[in-house]
Order: sequence, then structure tokens, then C-alpha cells
Amino acid sequence: MIKYSNIVKSDKNTANISYKCNICNFTKNGEIWMKYNINDKKHINICSYLCNNKYFENNKFYLNKVINKKDFDLIRPVNSATNYNFKILSINEIEILTDTEYIQYFTDLDDYITLNPERSRLQLDIQNEIDIQNEIDMNNNYIDDY
Ligand SMILES: [Zn+2]
Repeated sequence: MIKYSNIVKSDKNTANISYKCNICNFTKNGEIWMKYNINDKKHINICSYLCNNKYFENNKFYLNKVINKKDFDLIRPVNSATNYNFKILSINEIEILTDTEYIQYFTDLDDYITLNPERSRLQLDIQNEIDIQNEIDMNNNYIDDY
């Protein structure tokens, strides 16, 4: 059992710690976005809102299984200047990002979602539709070649 006080204390040294996200399999630096218990013995690391959505699309979410609940409750300080020009990217655009850009994008995305929960959800839904449509189009083109 992890004590709340221990979680608070350990926060000071998390900047140099890296972990692997169990959803996207990327190695990330810093504080884990969410640690989540999948059973008594095992937990998973989730690195971002997007990975969170991906996982909980097929798994029911239980708040009492969130391990780092402290981070989950707090709204992080955000830099509004970086979010002003923030644009949600397509799957294809995300694929060509460098590691640094990728991490920056999802950090900005988290901030953007915090600042604009309604608008960002709508935009992500729209982008998701576009991505699905693009994939269908690509598959259709592929079939047309035969
Ligand atoms: Zn991830």
C-alpha cells in the first residue's frame, strides 16, 4: 500500500525518471501521467490523454484503481501562450513527428484539453472521424489498384 505522503515526497525527483507507456510503448520522461491498477499485482503506465482514451475505449474506468490520484485531481499550471496556436494533428502528421516534437505535442495537447475541455473533445472527435475516413480511402485506393 502506497501512502499518500510518500507519493507527495517522491514527486520532487521525478523529472529524471523515465518510464514506458503500456499503451503506446514509448519511453517517456518525468512524472507518469497516470498509473492504473489492472489487478492486485499489476499496474499499467499511461502517458497521455490520448493513450488514456485508447485504453478506456475497451476497458471500464474505475477511479479507485488510479494509483497517482493526486496528479489526477489537480489541474496543472498551463502556459496559455503555447496553447493559443495549438492545432490538433492527424494520425499521419503525428507519425512524422520527432521524439521531442511528439512529447511536446502530447504535453501541449494535455494542456489544451485542460483549458478547453468541450472544444478539444469536439475537435478530437472530428479529427478521429477524418483519420478513420482517410484510412478507409487509403484502403479503397489500394483495392482499386487491382
Ligand atoms: Zn502512451
